[in-house]
Amino acid sequence: MSLPLIPDRTCGGCVECCRVIPLDLPDLAKPTGELCAYCVPDAGCAVHAIRPQTCRTWFCLWRAVELSDDWRPDRSGIVIRPDGVEHGEITLFVVRRTPFLSSEEVFDTVAAWIDSGIAVALSVPGPVGTYPARAVVTDYLRPAVEAGDAERFNRLVARSLDKLAEHDWQADGIEARYRVT
Ligand code: SF4
Ligand code: SF4
Repeated sequence: MSLPLIPDRTCGGCVECCRVIPLDLPDLAKPTGELCAYCVPDAGCAVHAIRPQTCRTWFCLWRAVELSDDWRPDRSGIVIRPDGVEHGEITLFVVRRTPFLSSEEVFDTVAAWIDSGIAVALSVPGPVGTYPARAVVTDYLRPAVEAGDAERFNRLVARSLDKLAEHDWQADGIEARYRVT
């Protein structure tokens, strides 16, 4: 699903999706978690003008939803995935645990989503070349949300992430292929 993007918001120095999202296209394949070889540090995509369609249309929700700059994935460590939004589900893909993850802003935002009936999932990456782990945690977090208890919420989030990190990782089977010309 592609949502309208926020005007004037750009990815800036963020390249998280060029790392975390797997691609298996005829001219570009890269395993989950491998930084695309076309991604040049501080310069962005080396094949920008001819990049595959998937790269042109995949955007994290920070590009489409009114959230502060602190939520930008390379700063927050959280890529908010767009898939599932059409079913009323939001996935926080926590690629790194940062102080922002346990901030009041994250609590307030996630609490507002849960209050409004949105299902919230947490996800973590595995080793390069494996699918991420993911679990819907709405009901697990709800008591802390309803009590307005941010500390308890943070403990539950940390526990969920620890549990997800014990996942039995499944290989994505993608072999790298870089042939964009
Ligand atoms: S081709 Fe460009 S936009 Fe696509 S994943 Fe690679 S660096 Fe990112
Ligand atoms: S993760 Fe989001 S902000 Fe970062 S490069 Fe991708 S679309 Fe842009």
